[in-house]
Amino acid sequence: RPRTELDAVDSVCPYCGVGCALTYYVDRERGAIAFAEGRDQPGSQGRLCVKGRYGWDYAASPQRLTTPLIRREDSYPKGPLSAEVRGEEEVGRKGRTGRRPGGLVPMEEVLPHFREATWEEALDLVARRLTAIHAEGGPGAIAGFGSAKCSNEEAYLFQKLIRTGFHTNNVDHCTRLCHASSVAALFEGIGSGAVSTTYGDVVNADVAIVAGSNAPSNHPVASSFFKQAQRAGTTIIYVDPRADRMSEHADIYCQLKPGTDVAFYNSVMYEVIRLGLVDADYVATRTSNYDALAATVADYPPERGEQITGVPADTIRRVARIWGEARAGVIFWGMGISQHTTGTDNARCLIAMCAITGNVGKPGSGLHPLRGQNNVQGASDMGLIPMFYPDYQRAAEPAVHDRFERVWGADLDPEPGLTVTEIISSALKGGVRGMYMMGENPFLSDPNINKVRKALAALDFLVVQDIFLTETGEFADVILPATSYLEKEGTYTNTDRRVQLGRKVLDPPGQAREDWRVVQDVARRLGLDWDYTSPREIFDEVVSLMPSYRNLSYDNLGGTGKLYPNDDPEHSDGTVVMFDERFNTSDGLAHLVPAEWLPARELPDDEYPMVLNTGRLLEHWHTGSMTRRSYALDTIAPRAEVYVNPEDAAALGLVDGGMARVASRRGRIELHVKVSHREARGNCFIPFHFREAAANLLTIDEIDPFGKIPEFKFCAVHVEPV
Ligand code: SF4
Repeated sequence: RPRTELDAVDSVCPYCGVGCALTYYVDRERGAIAFAEGRDQPGSQGRLCVKGRYGWDYAASPQRLTTPLIRREDSYPKGPLSAEVRGEEEVGRKGRTGRRPGGLVPMEEVLPHFREATWEEALDLVARRLTAIHAEGGPGAIAGFGSAKCSNEEAYLFQKLIRTGFHTNNVDHCTRLCHASSVAALFEGIGSGAVSTTYGDVVNADVAIVAGSNAPSNHPVASSFFKQAQRAGTTIIYVDPRADRMSEHADIYCQLKPGTDVAFYNSVMYEVIRLGLVDADYVATRTSNYDALAATVADYPPERGEQITGVPADTIRRVARIWGEARAGVIFWGMGISQHTTGTDNARCLIAMCAITGNVGKPGSGLHPLRGQNNVQGASDMGLIPMFYPDYQRAAEPAVHDRFERVWGADLDPEPGLTVTEIISSALKGGVRGMYMMGENPFLSDPNINKVRKALAALDFLVVQDIFLTETGEFADVILPATSYLEKEGTYTNTDRRVQLGRKVLDPPGQAREDWRVVQDVARRLGLDWDYTSPREIFDEVVSLMPSYRNLSYDNLGGTGKLYPNDDPEHSDGTVVMFDERFNTSDGLAHLVPAEWLPARELPDDEYPMVLNTGRLLEHWHTGSMTRRSYALDTIAPRAEVYVNPEDAAALGLVDGGMARVASRRGRIELHVKVSHREARGNCFIPFHFREAAANLLTIDEIDPFGKIPEFKFCAVHVEPV
């Protein structure tokens, strides 16, 4: 059909935190999207990566859930179908005990364990069982995982339901697996978990450090701004163990050993101080605890830095000089910084790097953790985290607690709740017994999924609300069919703090319902007096409770959205550079927190001699529930591969395209080999999108003590040819 006969609907890309603006062109006669095109917006300027351009046909997949499902009576006692891939435990049911190299059962084997139900029957059952568990076990027996894929309005309602309906703060989402450590460090250091400047502001920087982030694959359009700035004169320094696509664009590439970030940045700061490049006035007037920081980094001369990190001392000195002499410098970082048991310490170092050189609060400078999911910033802002109500208002602070009790008209738990990782551990011990999971898939996304498998199987009741029968659905008692992002309206907040409108493009399949309506349906059955009629109405309530979102409304978000904070959304795009005068801490100062380098929790040894790093590919998104059902994306990247260095491959007898078995102390998988110069010797990389070779069967569930984030970026494995 010619473009003029198609219906153009402006919306936002549903994948990464860049949140590119786009327009879907819809053939209404066929009820299908014909194509997508980038749309002008300050943070994307009409650009899209392959996911935004082609990754929308998942919504029309015949595998969509279209009716509520209830587990069949003869499928109890509930036991996991998926095979234990390590150990001798008898697994499966009805005589099936076959081992699967990837560990997870095809969904067509799971579906027969459920029967179709009406919405009334399914919702009544959900409310009845969760209420009973709550009555028996108390608030601590209930927990909820919300989703960074849902809208702000849905995230807000979900946390409100768990808090007011079950009187517990046991509510969290995938930020715990993503930037929880960055947020912990940022709150401690500058009193705010959001970015201090936008990625587009890189054009004003003399130097940008990109730390632990393969941005061309994971934040492709943001990385195009880095390249643009570089062409205009910005020096790009890339620091990461993998020589991935970002390393090809960097002016200086520092290939450090995995898990040595603290030592690297301490050495750089040592040299900045030694060269007299500290911004003394800024340190004196805008920071605290400088002396303790200086005393700590004094133990990290570049030679020691080289010894620990493998980066030559001269390169460390060069980085320090460029950083210290820059008029303005900005640091972008990703999961390579955050997903460590030292994730908070890693981020503390980046904050200190900026603060001692006066690099927060002026154009071209600042701190920018590149957020993962398209709405992980928004979901966190909405209070979908156990320690904060909306707008990061502390649940444990009596005045805040009392205020929310008054506004929401319910008794609230005064104690912070459990995080994602703690909820799984609690379920294993019989603490948490009932769970409501909206749009999360921990049985593929969480670390050490053999442990997750046991935890989910141990629950008395699990309700899973999603658009597909996910791997986690295998453990559900009730499955509720939700609308996809394309089938509803709502707001989404990107990594820049830009709040944008996502608009309804398609009609939902079958009986699928918008998540906010389902959450409200459950709330009413719990006796809550909710009567929201639209996402707009929910957003108005959000704005009334969140000073950061002040002045925003559906009417003034416009086609390109607005940055928050924004004091004049009618005339302004919002605040790009924050903290030009004071930080959000109680004394207005940036708190410098020194960190000592600590090794990873599980180091290589004779039995497991290689280091495993996990992450994402350009073409896929997280557990693949959307992108692996997208024809173009799954055709380009159809299979799981382990990336190994050519010399390691030769020594181990691995052949490019052949099969390998990768084993850790927690499980093993079999997958194809990709011989790649991107890996350093002794390291390997596996993307976590592939259920048939689930990388998280191998990962370790050790967590950072502050952000409670798991160590996805470092565990010991053994690799051999199959
Ligand atoms: Fe979507 Fe991110 Fe790609 Fe933009 S860069 S099109 S938001 S996946």
